[in-house]
Amino acid sequence: MQPLHEKKTMDPSKTHRTLKLGPASAGRTVKLGPAPAGRALTLGPAPRLEETIEKPPSNILTGYKKVPASTRIKNWVKKIPFFQEMDYLRRKIYDSSLFDFAVKDLAEKLAQWPPALLLDVTNRCNAKCVWCPNPDLTDLGAMKMDLYRKIIDDYAVRGGVVHFGTFGEPLMDKTIKEKIEYLQKFPAIKRVEVLTNAFFMNEKIIPTLLENSVAVDISLDELDRETFEDVKKMSYDVVRKNIIDLLEANDRLDRPVPVNFRIKTLKTMEETLDNEFFNIIQSHQCTIALTPIENNIISNWAGRFDKDGFLDRYGIGSGKAVRFSHKRFNLTNTAPCTQLWKWMVVYWDGSVVLCCADMFSSTPVGNLREDSIADVWGGTVLTELRKKMIARKRFEIPICQNCDIHLSWHHLKNDYDSNAEPFIGKFL
Ligand code: SF4
Repeated sequence: MQPLHEKKTMDPSKTHRTLKLGPASAGRTVKLGPAPAGRALTLGPAPRLEETIEKPPSNILTGYKKVPASTRIKNWVKKIPFFQEMDYLRRKIYDSSLFDFAVKDLAEKLAQWPPALLLDVTNRCNAKCVWCPNPDLTDLGAMKMDLYRKIIDDYAVRGGVVHFGTFGEPLMDKTIKEKIEYLQKFPAIKRVEVLTNAFFMNEKIIPTLLENSVAVDISLDELDRETFEDVKKMSYDVVRKNIIDLLEANDRLDRPVPVNFRIKTLKTMEETLDNEFFNIIQSHQCTIALTPIENNIISNWAGRFDKDGFLDRYGIGSGKAVRFSHKRFNLTNTAPCTQLWKWMVVYWDGSVVLCCADMFSSTPVGNLREDSIADVWGGTVLTELRKKMIARKRFEIPICQNCDIHLSWHHLKNDYDSNAEPFIGKFL
């Protein structure tokens, strides 16, 4: 943990490139050491898209025979079917009620104050990704500065993590620069993150991100022009240039900011590892969360996205990688969903929604225009919903009934320490 007043930056001596493999990879994370130094293979818990976070290495093997990382990964990928089944079983045991007691104390502490604030400063998005229901949103807007200041002034009393972007593209907010800079006067804001598709991450905003130590999480997804533009409906060249500009500027810093890439792709793992843009990216200081879509990692957005239609359209939907995926397990998991403790999700108009699956604001739990953060977080609505979750009655909450985003209860311990402080250095 860093002291509360310290802004989060990465120590360059410790920076490394991390390739995180998604569900199909069932529990493997390959960490590449600081270029051009040696490499290490870290085995960790099965990562998920929602958990694209940097975990402290638990088992580092060094000095192994120099086989190219891509070959090691390809060899290992062949074993996936076995691991998929084992991983599914592991999840069932891990999230069973047998171990609820292990999370209880932490959950009680987290219910006192939101350790992270997810601010959807605008729900507008320039991209039209084929697997995202955002284009169906009708009530579009951006958070006004006076409302933003009210929320931040309130949150900064106890502080935590501020994260920009949930349902929309935060760099479309015309006041995003001002919003980021406003945070600097609050030492209790321990970390600032932005989740972006990088289209508007141009020379006007890059200095702001770097000077203010903002951790940048980029939803890149596809790496070649044709697939990228087919899937995301925006210019590949613009995004590519912005990314390279950011990475090069960041590399020049004494204290680079954390940059992470989310790549959920229609391509195979092998095709991705061979991609030239992938190799450019991973030659810079960054982490990469790579999950092929064929492994059923697309969300159904709590039933608001026709995922089955999407899977059919793209010929995905059979095989063990889908049957034993964590998304399939999430549909039936009765464990409390971590979202009600993990963070507070604030809509652009100040309303607080249940979770990051509630893009259409179907389950508002409060409103920060009138109420305080403490009043909403500890209020009757959220308290009653948490009680339902604890009683393993998730399916009595309408929005939760058909949701495959459900976050593992026990992973709360991966995100927060026993004092309910976020493990700094992770993307939430
Ligand atoms: S189960 Fe889904 S809808 Fe319910 S709180 Fe979790 S993520 Fe949100």
